[in-house]
Amino acid sequence: MYKVLFATSEAYPLIKTGGLADVSGSLPVALQSLGHEVIILLPAYPEACQRTEKLKTLTTLSLPHGEVKLLEGYLPGTKVKVWLVDCSVYFNRPGNPYLGPDGDPWHDNADRFHLFAQVAIAIATSKANLNWQPDIVHCNDWQTGLIPALLHTESLSHEQKATTIFTIHNIAYQGLFPYSTFIALGLPEELWSSEALEFHDQVSFIKGGLVFADRVNTVSPNYAKEIQSPEYGYGLDGLLLHRSDRLSGILNGIDDTVWNPETDPYLKTNYDHKKLAGKKKNKAALQKEYKLPNEPNTLLVGLVGRLVHQKGIDLVINSLPELATLPVQFVALGTGEPAYEHALRDMARLFPKQISVNIGYDEALAHRIEAGADVFLMPSRFEPCGLNQLYSLRYGTVPIVRRVGGLADTVVDAAPETLKDKTASGIVFDNADGESLYAAVIRAKELYQDKKIWKQIQQTGMRGESSWKHSAQQYTQLYELAIKDCQK
Ligand code: ADP
Repeated sequence: MYKVLFATSEAYPLIKTGGLADVSGSLPVALQSLGHEVIILLPAYPEACQRTEKLKTLTTLSLPHGEVKLLEGYLPGTKVKVWLVDCSVYFNRPGNPYLGPDGDPWHDNADRFHLFAQVAIAIATSKANLNWQPDIVHCNDWQTGLIPALLHTESLSHEQKATTIFTIHNIAYQGLFPYSTFIALGLPEELWSSEALEFHDQVSFIKGGLVFADRVNTVSPNYAKEIQSPEYGYGLDGLLLHRSDRLSGILNGIDDTVWNPETDPYLKTNYDHKKLAGKKKNKAALQKEYKLPNEPNTLLVGLVGRLVHQKGIDLVINSLPELATLPVQFVALGTGEPAYEHALRDMARLFPKQISVNIGYDEALAHRIEAGADVFLMPSRFEPCGLNQLYSLRYGTVPIVRRVGGLADTVVDAAPETLKDKTASGIVFDNADGESLYAAVIRAKELYQDKKIWKQIQQTGMRGESSWKHSAQQYTQLYELAIKDCQK
């Protein structure tokens, strides 16, 4: 069993912008229940400080930047320790951890996550006087990419060196900054090369993880393959192909203490796969909440997510006028690109009886949509794993997804043979265009008319295994392999 420092820039319920937070708030708990000792390392954002349990000051570190406090507490309701990097000039800002109030990235993101990396290095190399040294430093996404790179430049013996894992939650976000930032940060000169952090004359934080981590993984087997191709690799496919012997995919699990229709406190009525009647009450409540007519037999389509190009929101917007006349009802919750927010609001004004949107971020409402909708729409252009379709499956809300990334790994299309052998759990379509999405909804609507078949699809999804247990075991194997690599 290993000591794991789990470095991340968000973790539910301390701070969340997307799936990374869900993973960082639940994988450490699952790893700990397998016997590992996991400590989450997170910036001390104000919300995180408020929500961390039993918070106290652990130590003060002297870094080139100055003194930085390390706070210690617990992830709420768990025995997993959280260490918060308390540098107020960088992290004591309310709101989004990466973006300022104008929606643009904070101007000093490179400095912020460089400092965060320096703290991780101090812990990993026993320079923090904590009497605790990790066997594994598990890094997540570009915000932690400098950690494996900087550890590589430290002159340490095998015994002193922690093994590094880098998990890609989304290859499209790379942490790219100009060369002047590389100089201003004072990064070691040897890291300025196309075989290190340089990426088309810029410094790429994510490359630090991809090049220098002992093992790299991503959050679904299919996405692990896809990112080795130009279509999905965002310019890093060559490097990933080069590291393919060290690259793998492990599907995300879901936290079933948070996402469970039997116990979910946000729902009107709790239910399970045997008592699906409760789901109808949630549908009626959702229609009411969204001010749509109470129509028990009209297919209610739900969508929750970041309103960005990746998620295929434009395909949805283009199809909505036709979908409204079918008719189906459509409810959405999300924030993102202003053009999509406006277009969705316009659609709701044009079709007030069929379309209703909530532009905002609302954890509780996300749960109620998962429970109240009949189908959940995820027409993503790419999707590393996707969590919402896993929540939908768990809640008996049939996912309609594009055959891409983790969506293809987790949803089985309702075709004649899969309906016959009872493995069908959703609707899967191929092309990223409005017609294909429209045809998929029509298919869902037809299946929805056959109550027996529909129930079978719902129950197949609800019974499926999506907890973290299996995936946490796979992470344990990954740690073992990485440690072996380091000993060679
Ligand atoms: P991504 O990480 O690409 O945003 P995922 O499907 O992996 O997508 O995870 C998204 C997570 O963020 C889910 O838990 C989803 O419910 C949540 N989420 C996204 N947007 C919102 C929102 N506007 N309100 C509440 N929850 C949201």
